Amino acid sequence: MQASLFELPVVRTPPKVGRAFVRQIESQSILTPTKGRLAAYDFSLNPYRGCGFGCSYCYAAFFVPDDVRRDAWGEWVEVKANAVQLLAKHRDLGDARIYMSSVTDPYQPLEDSTRLSRSILEHLADRAEQPRIVIQTRGPLVTRDIDVLSRFRHLRVNMSITTDSDEVRKRFEPSCASIERRLQAVRDLKEAGIKVGVCVSPMLPIEDPIGFARTLRDLHADRYAASFFHSSDRLFSSSTGQKATDIAKEFEWTHSRYARAKEILKQLVPGFDGPGGFDPE
Ligand code: SF4
Repeated sequence: MQASLFELPVVRTPPKVGRAFVRQIESQSILTPTKGRLAAYDFSLNPYRGCGFGCSYCYAAFFVPDDVRRDAWGEWVEVKANAVQLLAKHRDLGDARIYMSSVTDPYQPLEDSTRLSRSILEHLADRAEQPRIVIQTRGPLVTRDIDVLSRFRHLRVNMSITTDSDEVRKRFEPSCASIERRLQAVRDLKEAGIKVGVCVSPMLPIEDPIGFARTLRDLHADRYAASFFHSSDRLFSSSTGQKATDIAKEFEWTHSRYARAKEILKQLVPGFDGPGGFDPE
């Protein structure tokens, strides 16, 4: 498949969204061969560099080589304006397993203007041999594209729902949508017949594990996954930011409290933390 210049989408890029400064870039590549935690996939696909959600615990920030930009994670985003053009060069993606996205959120607030993730998905959906897609997001905006998502034979939306408390959410991930909006997005996707995974990842302090379990159970998600914060002492290795570690201490959120909450979720939510929560579809 070859996109002509006339078919390329217009990528509208506002100069600033929320607290994030935005600029367009010409990327060298759009599909990255996977390894490590994503080895079950063939490629990761990141439409953006940086992420306007700027979660305090984000491990993706650790892959930014520049100190200043790493410290300013959440305050800048680069838009890969030539993403569809680059994808069109990959003629054979039949059955390729693509994770979208590993170091940004494809449905962060900026996507509302750029519609870049939508354009990418439209391009892939148009192919006779479609790749297999997992979309990983915290953004309810993904429901805007239900019409495109429905056209894939193998696609799952993994929605990150990290806690049951908006007070907790506001401390760790203040730029992200409320928990209720994310829950509603899952309900809307399910109602549209789209497969959904719920990722309690990283699990933040949970106020009412039993109530949270019942809420998650009633979503009837296709998969459920959970994880604690990443941790590493190495530079450019995925880890949890100091800010998030400090907030977790304030909440007295420890690995053993996480393990207890996870056990309750496992008992009450069928399939919770079973195999394959992050696996390809
Ligand atoms: S949404 Fe994901 S990529 Fe974006 S800041 Fe949060 S954890 Fe990082």
